[in-house]
Amino acid sequence: MGRVRCSKHGSSPFDVTCSHAGEQIDNGEFPTGHQFTLIQRLFVCNECVKLLDFEKYRRLHEEGAPDPSDPSWDAYFEAWTAADEALKDNRYFCSKCIDQLERKRKSQ
Ligand SMILES: [Zn+2]
Ligand SMILES: [Zn+2]
Repeated sequence: MGRVRCSKHGSSPFDVTCSHAGEQIDNGEFPTGHQFTLIQRLFVCNECVKLLDFEKYRRLHEEGAPDPSDPSWDAYFEAWTAADEALKDNRYFCSKCIDQLERKRKSQ
């Protein structure tokens, strides 16, 4: 799994967002819309969830990752790849920065 170099946190894991959720993060806001975890966290705005039919990934998100030795792992990994590719203008952000935005939002 890749890492990003963050100016605040150094080498960090990253989350993937649609371009719209990415704009919210640029503005210092925790992204509204939906959050899916498929190997990595994906932040997808309401519009893109509808447009790209992301609801189909909700079951996998809720069930969580299978063990890599489990036969269902391949399908899970393929779903992740498809989801990542569906977000055409996707962006990558340091996970720790996004966690900070979430804490900030909760404390408001
Ligand atoms: Zn979007
Ligand atoms: Zn960071």
